[in-house]
Amino acid sequence: MSYDPNNIFAKILRGEIPCKKVYEDTHALAFHDIRPQAPTHVLVIPKGPYVSFDDFSAKASAAEIAGFVAAVGKVARDLGVATSGYRLIANHGANSHQEVPHFHVHILGGRALGPMLVK
Ligand code: 5GP
Repeated sequence: MSYDPNNIFAKILRGEIPCKKVYEDTHALAFHDIRPQAPTHVLVIPKGPYVSFDDFSAKASAAEIAGFVAAVGKVARDLGVATSGYRLIANHGANSHQEVPHFHVHILGGRALGPMLVK
């Protein structure tokens, strides 16, 4: 699947659509999910054009990967969920129901999240 530069997160990165930003650096942007599924529900996206984790892990540079991973951890700590615990989710492809084709990690926390998957 090739990258669609008109996906909603690409528009957010270009500033064409607003977001509730929580963090930004060279490699990553973090913002609140528009339909939060937990008291804390923040999305972290890389700045490069990667469709999903599969694409990112195969094609991103070591600096992009390291910067992105460091940003996810920092955002979780800054949000105050590192002590109580949080869940990271990265959906890839059809079976995962990935909705937006720009790689993103969900940070979910702020309450006990229950079992990992609902059957
Ligand atoms: P996915 O299913 O692709 O892993 O998750 C996509 C997430 O993006 C969903 O949780 C959805 O609520 C969120 N989302 C979709 N459109 C927008 C938007 O325009 N702004 C923000 N902040 N989140 C969005």
